Amino acid sequence: MNIAKNPSGTPPKAVVIGGGIIGVCCAYALLRQGFGVSLIEKDRPGYAASFGNSGSIGLASVPPLGMPGMLKDVPRMLLDPRHPLVVRWRHLPTAAPWLLQFARNLSPARVEAISSARAALLAHAGTAYDSLLAEIGRPELIYCRGLIFAYESEASFAGDRAGIDLRRRHGIEAHEMSGAQLRELEPAISDRAVHGVYYPIVRTATRPLDLTEAILGAFVVRGGRVLHEEVRGMETGPGGVEHVVTDVARHQSDLVVLAAGAWSRGLARMLGEKFPVIAERGYHVMVSDPAAAPAVPVVSGDWHVAITTMTHGLCISTMAEFAAIDAPPDHANALRVCQGAAGLIRGLELNVASRWMGSRPSTPDSLPIIGRSARHRNVIHAFGHGHLGLTFGAVTADIVANLARDEAPDLDIAPYRPDRRFDGSSSARAH
Ligand SMILES: Cc1cc2nc3c(=O)[nH]c(=O)nc-3n(C[C@H](O)[C@H](O)[C@H](O)COP(=O)(O)OP(=O)(O)OC[C@H]3O[C@@H](n4cnc5c(N)ncnc54)[C@H](O)[C@@H]3O)c2cc1C
Repeated sequence: MNIAKNPSGTPPKAVVIGGGIIGVCCAYALLRQGFGVSLIEKDRPGYAASFGNSGSIGLASVPPLGMPGMLKDVPRMLLDPRHPLVVRWRHLPTAAPWLLQFARNLSPARVEAISSARAALLAHAGTAYDSLLAEIGRPELIYCRGLIFAYESEASFAGDRAGIDLRRRHGIEAHEMSGAQLRELEPAISDRAVHGVYYPIVRTATRPLDLTEAILGAFVVRGGRVLHEEVRGMETGPGGVEHVVTDVARHQSDLVVLAAGAWSRGLARMLGEKFPVIAERGYHVMVSDPAAAPAVPVVSGDWHVAITTMTHGLCISTMAEFAAIDAPPDHANALRVCQGAAGLIRGLELNVASRWMGSRPSTPDSLPIIGRSARHRNVIHAFGHGHLGLTFGAVTADIVANLARDEAPDLDIAPYRPDRRFDGSSSARAH
């Protein structure tokens, strides 16, 4: 879209649906490109999945969620009450097609291809935030102290070997350490850790909500509009989506960006498009006054729990729960898993200050959906970021801004295209 040639003489109108980190970054980027931007959010911006995540700008997260050979371990994971993988059985009929596509992405060839596509996006993710935060004058919202994966047994360390090697093949620096070396690097780690890997490239948000709110604040200061409304429909015409319809009004749109996280699947259906985006629910507990708080974020390789010191307390997050997006949370189960990992930090007692559950928008191939809609040319999709939505906020927005101006992005975005086949087969799919 050549934004200088809008026939009405006014800036073209962009409507961004969803006020999570992805929508907020996209709204700001489009405003910078000269669009008049309305960001529509049904609740409070930044309070869904983008609120309670572990804050990692996971620049080492090359491996996808599923690795080769994982399938044989799934029954054990599901039966182990201390494992963070949960499938609510009532949800199985809905989740089954997604799980089947997920399983098809576990071959070594697929994992290599997916890893390359993740690495390409990760290579731009850090610099995209650098520019954005420098521009809004808030570089302190992301710091770089790396990330420690700590292991309590030889077996769990060995179990992650393929992931460590995969990262290295993509140029990610990984320092393998003994328990003693880990404690030298991060004295809050207890004697339970016998091995570890330190990834210096990883960065962390001081508090995810502060990051989203700072970008949103800059958006508003520059003239962006935030509408507290719920999108209920979209009216299409020859040019694509002409109006976005909410519970309050009809909003004329020259461009629509769908960035509604795990809710995007339902909204895309209004456009006649089907996407295998599922709510993969995660939990956290915030701990008040911990005896020791790690300065370097720690992930337990045994419990799959992230332990991150944030400005408002110690955040312990975990779980991959496949359930309906609006099913009641199971905080007791999440607490059990967090308790298992707590022993990794010296003297940590789980004095729970608050609990939280949120839905990752996850795709079966561990890649986000970023690109123009195959059906409606003035719609750009930007959702499905799974475990890496915080990481990919700024880089997604850069791509969306390029697409909105009909410019080529700095990287090949074919792996993220909305009309790809999510089971890894090569042809584009029909809706
Ligand atoms: C426990 C946990 C830990 C995580 N840790 C990390 C991490 O360390 N690093 C990382 O990169 N990622 C992490 N993630 C993933 C990350 O949080 C998500 O990928 C990311 O927040 C998704 O952002 P989003 O903007 O797409 O979605 P959301 O933040 O969910 O925002 C979507 C918004 O759309 C709004 N919306 C929905 N429907 C409508 C409608 N009809 N009308 C108007 N508005 C609507 C919703 O209210 C919501 O605010 C984690 C996730 C969890 C759960």
